[in-house]
Amino acid sequence: MNLLPHDYKRSILEITPLYLNEHGLDGVILDIDNTLIGHNVPVPTPDVMALLAEYKAHGVKVCVVSNNRKPRVAAFCEKIGIDDYVWDAFKPAAKGYVEAARVMGLPPERTAAVGDQIFTDIWGARRAGCYAVLLRPIHKGGEGAFIAFKRLLEKPVLFYLKLKGMIK
Ligand SMILES: [Mg+2]
Repeated sequence: MNLLPHDYKRSILEITPLYLNEHGLDGVILDIDNTLIGHNVPVPTPDVMALLAEYKAHGVKVCVVSNNRKPRVAAFCEKIGIDDYVWDAFKPAAKGYVEAARVMGLPPERTAAVGDQIFTDIWGARRAGCYAVLLRPIHKGGEGAFIAFKRLLEKPVLFYLKLKGMIK
């Protein structure tokens, strides 16, 4: 069970096309809640929208992978101009990430899987062989009991990442 991300960033805004290029990555697999948007926020902030435009301009492939149902994922992606998405991914299963890499035409190791939950996004991404980037969640409030429980389980892993100097 590999719960360790390859990198840790405070925001998706740090996953620039330059960063991807420097790490040999040609695509990004994105989580929605607390990665692209805060909870109960309908659309990303203008700086996140600008980053998505930058991905397009640099030919970076983008695919959303979500555990949400199809109507919500489809409506969200349409609203923000992302064509490729996987719904009902059952993260931490690997299958959503594998499917996203296939859709983007890339081997998983050339995709950055970006998400805010270790026991959902990072575990699934590592299983699929993606380059896993853990993000500080945009906003932790109002996440519900199950996510709050997973946040507790994250603590020893976050502590380890701090010891290793990955989280400053
Ligand atoms: Mg999330």
